[in-house]
Amino acid sequence: MQVITRDDAKAQGMTTYFTGKPCRHGHITERFTVNQRCRECARVDSLRRYHADAVERTRKTREYQRQNKDRVLAKHREWIAANKERVRQKEREWEARNPDKKKVIRINNDAKRRGAPGRITVRQWRSLLREADHKCMACGSPDNLTSDHIVPICKGGENRITNLQVLCLDCNRKKHRRIIDYRKKEQAA
Ligand SMILES: [Zn+2]
Ligand SMILES: [Zn+2]
Repeated sequence: MQVITRDDAKAQGMTTYFTGKPCRHGHITERFTVNQRCRECARVDSLRRYHADAVERTRKTREYQRQNKDRVLAKHREWIAANKERVRQKEREWEARNPDKKKVIRINNDAKRRGAPGRITVRQWRSLLREADHKCMACGSPDNLTSDHIVPICKGGENRITNLQVLCLDCNRKKHRRIIDYRKKEQAA
């Protein structure tokens, strides 16, 4: 930065000047011709104000949402309806990034729809997959792994991890509605 006095800068129509001397906060940078204010101080101040305002803005938004729950929800539904393709695309991207979560949501939704009590967590499902070494618990195939309710939901089986095993699609179809616990096969043999 070129050293130039305030008067010279003013005479040249410049909005800032530079003395090379630190401001009282120790910044060595340009100052504004109009009020001698340090540019770095101005930047820090405006940043601080912006963040202080952001907190207040967020608080106000939350407050509004709390007091207008129905209206906010309706607006949200409206937006989703008007942006179906975009929403679906975002969903697909999320599902591709989170296959295990997608799987567990599907297991739980399906069980709920069919009236089975219980809920699986993603952690439980992952731990079951590890236990199965990411292979079918019946035939050992690593392909097309599915979740199987040992006691089928249609026979009163609950949607809990204790009632779940990992089967390949073929074994799942073969088992169909029978009650076969492949997790205990090794111990029984
Ligand atoms: Zn300063
Ligand atoms: Zn299998």
